[in-house]
Amino acid sequence: MSGTFVGMPAFPKAAHDAVRNTTLRANLKHATHTIRDKRARAVAELDDWALLREAGKQIKDHTLRHLDTYLVQLEEAVTAAGGIVHWASDADEANRIVTRLVKETGESEVVKVKSMATQEIGLNEALEEAGIAAYETDLAELIVQLGHDRPSHILVPAIHRNRGEIRDIFTKEMGQWGRPAPEGLTDTPAELAEAARLHLREKFLRAKVGISGANFMVAATGTLVVVESEGNGRMCLTLPETLISVVGIEKIIPTWRDLEVFLQTLPRSSTAERMNPYTSMWTGTTDTDGPQAFHLVLIDNGRTDTLADEVGRQALRCIRCSACLNVCPVYERAGGHAYGSVYPGPIGAILSPQLRGTASEIDASLPYASSLCGACYEVCPVAIDIPEVLVHLREKVADQGGPGHRMEKAAIKAAGWVLDHPGALAAGERVASRTRKLHPKKLPGPGAGQWTNSRDLPQMPAEPFRDWWKKNRT
Ligand code: SF4
Repeated sequence: MSGTFVGMPAFPKAAHDAVRNTTLRANLKHATHTIRDKRARAVAELDDWALLREAGKQIKDHTLRHLDTYLVQLEEAVTAAGGIVHWASDADEANRIVTRLVKETGESEVVKVKSMATQEIGLNEALEEAGIAAYETDLAELIVQLGHDRPSHILVPAIHRNRGEIRDIFTKEMGQWGRPAPEGLTDTPAELAEAARLHLREKFLRAKVGISGANFMVAATGTLVVVESEGNGRMCLTLPETLISVVGIEKIIPTWRDLEVFLQTLPRSSTAERMNPYTSMWTGTTDTDGPQAFHLVLIDNGRTDTLADEVGRQALRCIRCSACLNVCPVYERAGGHAYGSVYPGPIGAILSPQLRGTASEIDASLPYASSLCGACYEVCPVAIDIPEVLVHLREKVADQGGPGHRMEKAAIKAAGWVLDHPGALAAGERVASRTRKLHPKKLPGPGAGQWTNSRDLPQMPAEPFRDWWKKNRT
């Protein structure tokens, strides 16, 4: 993955700071509770939701098992339809390809459809270095870009901002990027949307190059699919002369029939809609209609490594609906920035450490950013067992060592020895019971001390259980 979020502190520190921001917490609580309630109602409308969920899981698992076959099929279909397929093993290679393609058009600006993949590889920053301006056109992404901010939610990247903050950002920043915000702009949603519409419209009409991601790629026909709510995606996908789509290799599905399943589960899980307002599909190029050049950049960037992990690979089923974020008690309090990745929340806690590896402090901390309550698994429309993967990744992190884990390992080893020697255990229990008045309420040291900052150590009983048992039951 890219270095977009490098420099962020590990999750415990970032979350510690974030929970003290009362505005952020209020914004998040309001937004996540509203979306989660609406989602629950939208899902309850379908009698066959459980079957759809199982079908989605099986389609994704089948496709991942035969990814090599379907990718080749997709490439052949895209090429036959007039597109050009490029393969990128990592973020740098993908950025180099896209930068070259834009430069070849002679243009120095592009319009973008909201795309997690391009955020993952840090494409905007790479284009900027090459002197190419990338304009985000999704409303929430526009707010993030104008605010020199980072996205904090998969579906609603500016979820941490309220209306007043958005009005201030528009008023201050829009003029630096193009058409300024109207005089006397208020924070009513209609006025804010109109300001964004006017600002973006001139960019849509001027842009010769569009960059998108895709929610799905249909291998059988080489068709790409973007689902969205605002119509900005449709503008980016149809108006420019050149379209470049940057997509993770796991977004492939075999046939249109498979798409039918996800077009039912994705909108209900993400925006709680029966059907999203805009579903755009395109297959290569068409003479005199839409972009006349189409490039598909397929990125690996850690996905094949993830696929090799028998437990962790289920994370690649994710359709980025964000339902798991909206029900997560940790996300609700810490917010998306604390995860130090473009993928926040429960899915981020299992996806980022797999795509990026667990070598950095921040990635090693992510599998612990969960209470393991399981709410994420319950709502996931492709049944990703996020708690199972979290525990699996914790095991990996513990195996790789680190000061905290060395202490933990030593403690477990010592406990194992004591439990193996009943005489020593009984003697230790007696000593502990007799000295119980002297025991501290908190444990010393940074790791154990942190644990008892918010918990009291249980008091030792006056008499060890084994002694009591001997006296009363034998
Ligand atoms: S893990 Fe499941 S619930 Fe979370 S974003 Fe992905 S598909 Fe949606």
